[in-house]
Amino acid sequence: MAESMKGLRRSHRCAEVSKAQEGRMVTVMGWVQKSRNKGGIIFTDLRDRSGILQVIFEECDCGAEVFEKAASLRSEFVIAVEGTVTARQGAVNANLKTGDIEVRAKGLRILSESETPPFPVEAGSRTREEVRLKYRYLDLRRPDIQHNLMVRSQVAALTRDFLVQEGFLEIETPTLIKSTPEGARDYLVPSRVHPGSFYALPQSPQLFKQLLMCSGYDRYFQLARCYRDEDLRADRQPEFTQVDMELSFVDVDDVLDVNERLLKKLFKEICNYDLQLPLLRLTWQEAMDRFGSDKPDMRFGMELKDVSDVVKDCGFAVFQNALEAGGSVRGINAAGQAGMPRKKIDALVEYAKGFGARGLAYLAILEDGSYKASFAKFMKPEELDKLAAAMEGKPGDLLFFAADKNTVVWDVLGNLRLELARQLDLLKKDEYRFLWVTEFPLLEYSEEEGRFMAKHHPFTMPMEEDWNLIDSDPGAVRAKAYDIVLNGTEMGGGSVRIHQADIQEKMLEVLGFTPESAHEQFGFLLEAFRYGVPPHAGLAYGFDRMVMLMVGADNIRDVIAFPKVKDASCLMCEAPAQVDVSQLDELGIGVKKETAQTDLRQE
Ligand code: ASP
Repeated sequence: MAESMKGLRRSHRCAEVSKAQEGRMVTVMGWVQKSRNKGGIIFTDLRDRSGILQVIFEECDCGAEVFEKAASLRSEFVIAVEGTVTARQGAVNANLKTGDIEVRAKGLRILSESETPPFPVEAGSRTREEVRLKYRYLDLRRPDIQHNLMVRSQVAALTRDFLVQEGFLEIETPTLIKSTPEGARDYLVPSRVHPGSFYALPQSPQLFKQLLMCSGYDRYFQLARCYRDEDLRADRQPEFTQVDMELSFVDVDDVLDVNERLLKKLFKEICNYDLQLPLLRLTWQEAMDRFGSDKPDMRFGMELKDVSDVVKDCGFAVFQNALEAGGSVRGINAAGQAGMPRKKIDALVEYAKGFGARGLAYLAILEDGSYKASFAKFMKPEELDKLAAAMEGKPGDLLFFAADKNTVVWDVLGNLRLELARQLDLLKKDEYRFLWVTEFPLLEYSEEEGRFMAKHHPFTMPMEEDWNLIDSDPGAVRAKAYDIVLNGTEMGGGSVRIHQADIQEKMLEVLGFTPESAHEQFGFLLEAFRYGVPPHAGLAYGFDRMVMLMVGADNIRDVIAFPKVKDASCLMCEAPAQVDVSQLDELGIGVKKETAQTDLRQE
């Protein structure tokens, strides 16, 4: 029978007990990690979120009744132990914080019994993730996940502290808002009071934080839950948390400055890593040209080189065709890899095809200085010399080339660069290489939609010097937008916002909004802008990703208490689920037969 807490008070968490309490009585509570009965003596490892403490039951200390009760202890029972702290009699366990002591029990209460759990509660579990997520409440007991969530809480607290010190106000914005189809797909919530109408869950607090600036709140922040109904990738969740902020009377440098100081504080306190400020800054163009990515991993070199000029008159049709079509030929140098087996090279060519490459040309510079190239027969020896020289190729190096339109070349080589780094083990987890990527294109042409779309969002300020191109060459207009990138992951991003009505109207027009449709969607923002709006700018971090990078987790689910899986469902509570017909009736909603798995409305 489960006993109560009556008259008991916990004096310490398990791993808080130390030599300092030697000879004193403590009261500790937690879960039984394991309990071994060695005849006259029972060793019980007691666990809570602080760690593990060894408890010893011996009849001479605790009496027959307690000893008998202790003999019934099994893994995951919840118990309270009163006992005396003593130096460890057996060997000191250097792996445990409490490895030099033990508690000799006098009293024991079994607060709750446990069935045998479906998997052992231990760090580094090899249990399948689906099983762990189904029993997430047990999985969350594991020390590695507990560590992640404790760090997460600490990062949140430090962030709040820092921003409050810097004069930011924490303000909540609503989560039942109006749907704005620009951006990702919204999660919709039906309204009962207004049948046929829907709220949307926010993809970010964007419009509200801009309104707060209009209202004079100056510096705002929020740890905001955001929702995006996208197909999930490994580091995405349908609901996620942003550290969201907005500042008035600022330009790009002000936002970057306060955020660099925030990051410095966080990485010092959490990772004991000294960030050198100011952080590196690359324009988007430079990032693409040098790394083929707008979120380059700076832990290694292997930079892209544009060799279009070098190969422009050579006889290799693949290069020629790409250049004639307005594309480029670029390469990377996998230094020292000339001996890579053919099979491995072929696998890399296949990998490149996954990013739209029609092929991947390669050239190995052998130790004797001769070449082995997939395109050798199309080029003269002196052309090959020039190409190798342009790539700073030395004997022993392996060069890869992609020829296509720029976007494809960047994507192919950017990803190949990363794949090679993974294969060559160049990505060290304890190295933190930050950079800002700035001056993103304002717009991005969508083949699918047949129009320009906002690269960041429709409220992002164009660069003053490019604005005159908005009609003649919209794709060339750069934005006052910036991303913060760590080790090849976009950790956050933001922009200076448009605060001038004429620029905002023009921007919406370029994005294909009519004055009516713009009014319909963002009318309240446009209207607010008529009553005095300060210049403002902001940024949001993906908080889950940030914590994931800080704790070195491979997976965003490992830093979220109750995450969803790839198909956006929760394996534990089984959301989403069908609802009762009466609930749907109240909302005036019917489910189409072909979409319902089992149509509740079929009578
Ligand atoms: N709201 C933006 C986003 O979620 C960030 C920002 O511009 O502040 O990406």
